[in-house]
Amino acid sequence: MGDSGFEARVEQALADAGLRRNFASAMGGFAARRLAVFPDAAALERLREQGAAARRRALARLPELLEELERALVGNGIHVHWAETAAVGNRIVLEILEAHGVRRVVKGKSMVSEEMHLNAFLARHGIDAVETDLGEFIIQLAGETPSHIIVPAVHKNRAQIARLFHEKIPGTPYTEEVAELNAVARRTLRRMFREAGAGLSGVNFAVAATGTLCLVENEGNGRMCTGVPPLHIAVMGIEKVIERLEDLPPLLRLLTGSATGQRVTTYVNLISGPRRAGDPDGPREVHVVLLDNGRSAVYADPELRATLQCIRCGCCLNHCPVYTRIGGHAYGTTYPGPIGKVLTPQLAGLERAGGLPFASTLCGACEEVCPVKIPLTRLLRRLREETVRAGAAGGAGAGALERLAWRGYGLSAQHPRLYRLLFACGRWLGGLMPPVAALERWGRAHAEPRFARLSLRRLFRKRGIPDA
Ligand code: SF4
Repeated sequence: MGDSGFEARVEQALADAGLRRNFASAMGGFAARRLAVFPDAAALERLREQGAAARRRALARLPELLEELERALVGNGIHVHWAETAAVGNRIVLEILEAHGVRRVVKGKSMVSEEMHLNAFLARHGIDAVETDLGEFIIQLAGETPSHIIVPAVHKNRAQIARLFHEKIPGTPYTEEVAELNAVARRTLRRMFREAGAGLSGVNFAVAATGTLCLVENEGNGRMCTGVPPLHIAVMGIEKVIERLEDLPPLLRLLTGSATGQRVTTYVNLISGPRRAGDPDGPREVHVVLLDNGRSAVYADPELRATLQCIRCGCCLNHCPVYTRIGGHAYGTTYPGPIGKVLTPQLAGLERAGGLPFASTLCGACEEVCPVKIPLTRLLRRLREETVRAGAAGGAGAGALERLAWRGYGLSAQHPRLYRLLFACGRWLGGLMPPVAALERWGRAHAEPRFARLSLRRLFRKRGIPDA
């Protein structure tokens, strides 16, 4: 997999029984809730088609839609900023905050701000960024990064959170009572909302036709961040734009159902400008930072562009046999799991992250559940090919014997007769096969393959099933 840090983290995660237990139970719960909220497979398929079509339509017109969005936002009194890189985005946010003399900002959940490493950047400039989503609040207390794009603290159990609150929040007695822990967080954060000079949020969807920013959440903290402080800054990837308000209902239904198994989130915020004359509350100024950070390059490739359809529901993570066993931190990236394995190598480059697409069984579970039908396995294969061709991290490193073995396999897979002949001799060849340990990198993570007594083809024939 190229990245020795990645391999070491995977080994560490696999050896951590508690971590595996936390993930297994949480992910199993999400998968079950999703099934319960989408009981009709045919209806779900129709909804997925609708969602995928909305995202594809938006991407097909991305440059002009972004211009339309800018015009509509400005028309609504929202300031628009373009950031080509994360560094530029950070600088823009800092300048806005400094211009308003802000020393503390309350933050709603935003994976783009994680991608920008915004909190650390602001801290270096003397600005305190306080996470207010409960999961983000927990991992900020722990000094960690999110391990899941929807449930950032999913790797922690109740006892670990209780200990954290007890140790990090002065005057908090140790308790594992969820209601009490929530009350502690609420008390701590209320004061922050009141005192903060600005609120910062992400954006789930930005509607080009109306200049509306849509933000979904369950805790009300997003509404507090965007409504209480006098200044609101929203950061979003440029791919989050959609054409019109009518696209929102199917996308919201898919997002919440796929993410947490909810029919609808507790709060759906539609933000269309700063406080107007006569409004009793709301921010006096709203800014939007549109971040590129490599997305234009992804967009430029007609096949890889599908990556940008993603609505960050996290469903592919919940169903991935790799993610559910190693957790998010093992990836060492902002976006873990299947979408991370596709997106990160494109944003960070194959040299740095080309090994990630290899950390997949290609079972296709991610693609099967993706609400906007991103062809994740095709994209993983494409990135694998590119990594190998470029000799980049992850593609390099196989020994001569391993390369020969794969070349032989590739040749037989392209010639059905040869493949069948080899299979027929499989048992005999099995004895001659080099031990998996000899296949160096591949052998480190795989058990010795065993040939079945009967091929699938012969099994079909035996049972009278027509052979396609
Ligand atoms: S790739 Fe699909 S399933 Fe995964 S986070 Fe994105 S939209 Fe959700």
